[in-house]
Amino acid sequence: MNKGNKIYEGKAKIIYETNDKNLVIQHFKDDATAFNNLKKAKVEGKGVLNNRISEYIFNNLGECGIKTHLIKRLNMREQLIKKAEIFPIEFIVRNIATGSLTKRLGISEGTVLSKPLLEYCYKKDELEDPLISREHIYSFGWATIKQIESIDKITLRINDLLLGIFRGIGIKLIDFKIEYGIALNKDTNEKEIVLVDEISPDTCRLWDVKTEKKLDKDRFRKDLGNVIQGYQEVARRLGIMPEETNISEVNFGKTTSIKFKKK
Ligand code: 5GP
Repeated sequence: MNKGNKIYEGKAKIIYETNDKNLVIQHFKDDATAFNNLKKAKVEGKGVLNNRISEYIFNNLGECGIKTHLIKRLNMREQLIKKAEIFPIEFIVRNIATGSLTKRLGISEGTVLSKPLLEYCYKKDELEDPLISREHIYSFGWATIKQIESIDKITLRINDLLLGIFRGIGIKLIDFKIEYGIALNKDTNEKEIVLVDEISPDTCRLWDVKTEKKLDKDRFRKDLGNVIQGYQEVARRLGIMPEETNISEVNFGKTTSIKFKKK
């Protein structure tokens, strides 16, 4: 698979074309941003960890019948993925109230929601990804009723699966953001809805079950320190760290090695 020109560069990832028009390469950067790009930093090793964590989760979801864009991980920072037309919508699932939900509606921090709450945001940096209703989605043609009904079902199933994956390693899944696109299924030669982007500590809130210690991007957003250590802890518990050292990173004055199992 030959890596071609850069097609798109976002805050945390770069997409490159390949010699197959239906496939692209997703490269995970170390850049971290928050508050609509107002806060920026390089978190060394983050891209490598997110690549591995997201690969693990997408593969697990795939084994449970969720269609995703992931073909395979290529190396420490890159994945081969299906090229997809992305819906301009962020799908957010909340199990416990925190973040923008508590700010927006005055709900007490930590409230356990009686059932998962699904929210939609319009993917538009200039507008700070505003919360939207289904009616906005239909009015502006960002997706059809049929597509949203199908995506909602898949999203709630993903929540169930993720709750199980994380609970099994002593982590509470507080909330997360996912995205979808439409990609070609080469077997059926038909276009279908697939999960795209990534699922990682950048896109989820993950708290240790016992201590409620944050193991996600809130460590960066809220200046809690030890950002990379939180991500490493998630990878370690998922069983995708140690053994052979491939990269080393310096964080908070401490040098640590990131080690990965060979596949
Ligand atoms: P909140 O709306 O409370 O800020 O975020 C809810 C959940 O969605 C959190 O897990 C957060 O990490 C994720 N999320 C929401 N918007 C974005 C975004 O633009 N980028 C990333 N990486 N995650 C987001």
